[in-house]
Amino acid sequence: MVMQPSFHTALLGGLLHSLQNVPNSVPATILCPSTFLRSVFVTNRNDHENNPLDPNFRIIKSIIAHLQERSGRTYFKVDKSTALPSIHKSNYSPISLDVQPDLMFCSPGIPLNMGSQRLFTKIIVKLKRHSSRKSTISNLDRARCCVNDEFDLYPSDSTIWKSLRSTDINRLTRNFLWKCMHETFHVGTFWDNVPHLEHLGNCPTCTVPDTMEHIALECNVPGQKIIWNLCEKIWNLRYPLWPKLHWGLILGCGLPRFRTNKGNRLRAKERFFTILVSASIHLIWKLRNERVLEGKNLTDTEIENRWISMINSALKRDQTLTNKARFGSLGKTKQIVLETWSTPNMRCRTIGRKARGF
Ligand SMILES: [Zn+2]
Repeated sequence: MVMQPSFHTALLGGLLHSLQNVPNSVPATILCPSTFLRSVFVTNRNDHENNPLDPNFRIIKSIIAHLQERSGRTYFKVDKSTALPSIHKSNYSPISLDVQPDLMFCSPGIPLNMGSQRLFTKIIVKLKRHSSRKSTISNLDRARCCVNDEFDLYPSDSTIWKSLRSTDINRLTRNFLWKCMHETFHVGTFWDNVPHLEHLGNCPTCTVPDTMEHIALECNVPGQKIIWNLCEKIWNLRYPLWPKLHWGLILGCGLPRFRTNKGNRLRAKERFFTILVSASIHLIWKLRNERVLEGKNLTDTEIENRWISMINSALKRDQTLTNKARFGSLGKTKQIVLETWSTPNMRCRTIGRKARGF
């Protein structure tokens, strides 16, 4: 069996090799310069013996089986004076170890009462690795490249997924962005495989494939242009440059990096960008569905009012999140909420009719 090379794996491998070659009836004293072996097999044995996510789990189970098989006493001692011999690569000769535990002296797996729902879920997720959808991989790459172009940041897949779970974003909008990343909506090429409904894959106004990117940034139907213009206007109340939006940047809207000249992060600016873009794209999608599914054709003023109402809801949500007694560590500080929303003309109040001229 090939083990991941690490110092701890080497220690465990050496111990297993020794136990396999020492008669069981002979007392043995195991000297180690660190407390690692004593911790694994004496002080914290339960934790290590019952943690299948430990990369050395199999070798630990095998050693425990050997220890239980022994009739001679076994002592674990920490001896700082025991220096490990330096091993030169030329002298190094790998040995093959049988790490299969003897089931007479060790049970396979872990007892049910030693695990937790969290641990079992992690194990199941690790065992059941689902292959990613092509569209998901493509969208992750688009988000990564756009965030890199705009903010000089190259996020990993897990960082992108984590950004979609940010509490700065409304719960329903988080779900919406997750579905966007997986392309689960019935738009564009989805209809190519539905007999007699292929025409639904095209935008009736622009006569091009009705993809999420088209709906969000390109469609000529009143909606997206008005909303993005409003975003730029409210952004310019406080900040000078509104980033040029791409579909990848919208998917990666939870990963903005704005910095001062000294390189310090501007958290409030980043939060405002995330809230603004995520809520606006969700509104564009909702307006599109109302138009396509319910036949509602909103005027420019109605769209503007819907956006203002949505921004006010986002502001109220942020204000509610400052309630530490209710939300605990998931809440927001008053300072960050004030910094996010306050501008010289709009001091954390809901945006009313007077403010529409921004
Ligand atoms: Zn269109």
